[in-house]
Order: sequence, then structure tokens, then C-alpha cells
Amino acid sequence: MKKNGKRILGIVFAAACAMGLMSFASACEMEEAENHTHDYSARREVITPATCVEDGLALEYCACGESHEVKLDRLGHDYQIKQDECVEATCMKEGQTVEVCSRCSDRQVHTTEKIAHDFGEWETETPATSSAPGKKVRHCKREGCDGKEEEEIPKLEVETFQLSVNVLRTSGEVFPSTRGIRIEVQDKSGYVIERNYQMSHKFELPDGEYNVVIVDVPEGFTVDQTSIPADATHNSVEFVLHASLLKGVPKNTTTYKVGSVLYDQTLEIIGLTEEEDKKVTISELLSEYKAILFNVYFSTCDGCVSEVDYLMNAYNARSSTGKIYGEEVAMVMLASSASRESKATIRRFKADPTSGKTDYQKYGIRSRNLPTMMAYCPAMEELFLRNRESFKGYPTTVIVDSEGVIIHLNTVVARSADEFTKLMDRAITIYQKLHENGNSAGGGDQAPVALLPEQLSVEGRGKND
Ligand SMILES: [Zn+2]
Ligand SMILES: [Zn+2]
Ligand SMILES: [Zn+2]
Repeated sequence: MKKNGKRILGIVFAAACAMGLMSFASACEMEEAENHTHDYSARREVITPATCVEDGLALEYCACGESHEVKLDRLGHDYQIKQDECVEATCMKEGQTVEVCSRCSDRQVHTTEKIAHDFGEWETETPATSSAPGKKVRHCKREGCDGKEEEEIPKLEVETFQLSVNVLRTSGEVFPSTRGIRIEVQDKSGYVIERNYQMSHKFELPDGEYNVVIVDVPEGFTVDQTSIPADATHNSVEFVLHASLLKGVPKNTTTYKVGSVLYDQTLEIIGLTEEEDKKVTISELLSEYKAILFNVYFSTCDGCVSEVDYLMNAYNARSSTGKIYGEEVAMVMLASSASRESKATIRRFKADPTSGKTDYQKYGIRSRNLPTMMAYCPAMEELFLRNRESFKGYPTTVIVDSEGVIIHLNTVVARSADEFTKLMDRAITIYQKLHENGNSAGGGDQAPVALLPEQLSVEGRGKND
């Protein structure tokens, strides 16, 4: 039935077409709709155009009038570089590139990284030395750029050299190291490379330029130069210390030891009688004699009494100059005020050193009317007593050279005259070096002639009777 129905409809349409009752086209379309494949290339209609960033839409038609939607792909930007807005990168500033889309004017700004400096040659700013590294720099050549680069120049690999430093007395003797002088080796910037307290010392130093500096020159001494330049070719440095007697009142801390310079104090010299008493200063003694020997004693000291003959033998012995020591060296017996020696006791001791105790005859002391100076000066003894370390008691023998410097201080009982003359020889030699320009008039190497007790001076004995 259905089949027949459709066929009947077709016949009806065809008849209608033939009769001109129905339009042909629509009739064809009716026919085509049932029979063709759409071909959408017949016509296109853009509904929404595509832009740089968004898809568009179009309709495509088939000849039959059927249409379908078609997506129009977005175009993407059409960037063009805008030369006039671009900035070139330098070593100081980043650059930029500007691109603008020719369609939508969208802008893209890209930063370009700084470029490397254009460095010139390295220049040495601080040269390297053997003790410190140096520094070199190079600068960017570009105008207006202060870019620079620094690099260390390694320390110089250099040889070492030996620097010999001596601190001497004017007489040429090495300065007594007990005085605590500090010797510093400084580089040119004043930095202390080495320090030492020895007065004769060799420093091992890297090749370079230095200043040797003497610090804490003791009271009473002066030095011509406190700083002496040194290097590998000037590798022997000498400081020469001159001494001169100290003036005024000793400080509360002043003590006498080897290396001390004496204060110019006044000694009372006690004679056999009051009429013979006199006063003398240390400077007067040093202007008359080549040195001073102090024998610090007290009259009831066994050791002090027992060495008196040796001291008097030394007084009368002849030195290598041909004179007796007593004429060359001021030999002074300094009575201990701390042991309550009075002027009367001193006078009695000078006349007879065994007068202190009745049993002193046991020593067989023959000396009488001692030719040595008998001094009384509590202020001076005080300066020895303050230093228990070096002044240990009585008898103590002290040698002061012609510059007023203590070159010997020892508490010991002498057992021969030689013990005294040797000490005085050393002081005489110093005097010769200082005053006779080192000529060999003295020599000082010859053995002193010690006299026997029988040869002792008995000058003035009669006065005491
Ligand atoms: Zn179609
Ligand atoms: Zn665009
Ligand atoms: Zn630069």
C-alpha cells in the first residue's frame, strides 16, 4: 500500500509539474533533496570575521540552499619591529625591543640583557710584595661606564735574608739586655713583622724593605736614630745608645741594676777627721776618674771585713796604663745606712776596718787608714735596696763606667784582688774606647799586678793614733 501511495504521489507531482500547477524548481528540489550530496562551495557568507586573537564564523551554502557553519581560524598578530622605540642594551643598562601588530596595534616589549663590559688592559694598583699581595684593576672603555674589575696579584715568591740588629753602647759593647728595650721590624706601612728583646739578634726576613725601630729606650739613654731602614743589602743595623747622668730626684720606681744610669747624687765623703770630710757628686767623680767602683758594706759584716785587704790590694795594684787603680778608678766604700752605719762608725772603719767587732783580728786584716773614699749617701743606697733581685746583700761591688752606667753589680765576698782589678780593667777599657778613640794606649788585656798585703799603703796611719 505504501509503495503504491508514494508512487501515486510522484505521479501527482509530475502531473502537477506538467500542468504548470507547481513551480519547477521546487519540484526539482523536492526531487534533489532526496537524491544529491550537498556541495557547500556555492557561496560563503562571513558572519563574524576572524581577528588576531579570536576565531570567526562563516556560513557555506550548497546550491540547494543548504548551509553549514564554518570556523574561521584566528589570524595571529602581525608584529612589526618599531625601530624608533627600540633601545640598544649597553654594559650599564638593559635594552628593549618594541613590536607592534599591524592589525590590532598590540605591543610587545622585550628586555634585552646588558652586554659585557669592554675592558681595557690590566693596570697594577698596588704592587705585590713579599709580605702582602697586590691588586690590579681594569676599566671598561665605554664612555660613561665606570665598570671595573679587580684581581689580586699574588705575593711575590722571594728569597729571605738575614737582618742583624745590634744595640750597642757608645763604647761598642752590646747593651745589657736586662733593660727591656724592644726591637721591632716594621714593614713600610708600620706593621710590625717581628719583635725581639735581645740586644743582639738576627732576624730571618723575606726580601723587602723594612724599618727597624727601637722602642722604650731606658731612662738616662738617648739614641741618635729610633728608626733605621733595612733591606737585603743594608742588612746590618746598629743602634748606639749614649748615656748621661740623670739629673734631679729619682722616681719612686727607680732601682739600680746592671744597665741603670746613675742619678747625679751627692756623696758625703767621710775622712779620718771631720776636717777631712767633704762632699762630692757622681759627675765630679766621673770627670776626675775613668770609672767608679762602689763597695757597699757595713762595719759588722763578716764578709765585708774579710775582703777589705783584697780591695786595698786592688787599689794599689798597677793597671796596664802604669798607674795604680786607685788613681784611675774612684774606689768608694759606700756605708750601708740601712745597717745603721753612722759617720762615727765610718770614720772608725776607715782607720781600722776590724774595729766593728773584737774578734775581727781573726781575719788578719792588715789594712789601716783605708785610701778608698768612705761615702755616706742613704738616698743612693735606697736605689739599690729597692731591687731585691739584683742587690742581694753585703758586700756588693758595683762598677759604674765613665758614662755613668752600672756595668757590674754582684753580691759576693772577694777572695783575691784580681776579682776587683778585672772589673776595673773592663771599666778602664770602656773609658779608653769612649775617650781615646779606641787607640791601644791601654789595651786592658794585660794581667793586673796585684800587690801583696805587705805592700799596702799605710798612708795616714799615724793620724789615727
Ligand atoms: Zn544541496
Ligand atoms: Zn594583532
Ligand atoms: Zn662597561
